[in-house]
Amino acid sequence: MKKIKPHHNFFMEKAILEARKSSSGEFKIGAIVVYRNKIIGRGTPKDHITLNPVKHAEVVAIQKACKFLKTNLLHGCSIYVTAEPCLMCSSIIFQAKIPIIVFGAKRSLLPLRKRDVSIHDLVHDSGYNPEIVSGILEEKTLKVFNSKFKCCTKK
Ligand SMILES: [Zn+2]
Repeated sequence: MKKIKPHHNFFMEKAILEARKSSSGEFKIGAIVVYRNKIIGRGTPKDHITLNPVKHAEVVAIQKACKFLKTNLLHGCSIYVTAEPCLMCSSIIFQAKIPIIVFGAKRSLLPLRKRDVSIHDLVHDSGYNPEIVSGILEEKTLKVFNSKFKCCTKK
């Protein structure tokens, strides 16, 4: 694990703001793509409202960043995600060659998302060596993620 830098907290706060905007029925996850200290892609999950299973927060943010930079490769970018990316999103992040991946809550801590395979296991198969920073504002990102479940259990 790499050393935590102050700007990681700053951009994770921005990702948390996105997560809070998640539509009802979606997971409370936010993702942003940063290029030269500027946010060029933002995303919340859209898979339920678009009826498209690939529209996770990370994918939405990556698609916007690719459109902004007019490329499918995001070499100079970082991605910040409030929760550890799933297998699909990890693969897409690797395909986009994003060199810095920062996330809040680890999958092992998330309700309904606990899996044995982590992004660290997948990176060995990706063909490149991104910097992965985990646990940024973990408590806060978990609280946002779990807010969906608190609201659902009240019914
Ligand atoms: Zn995903």
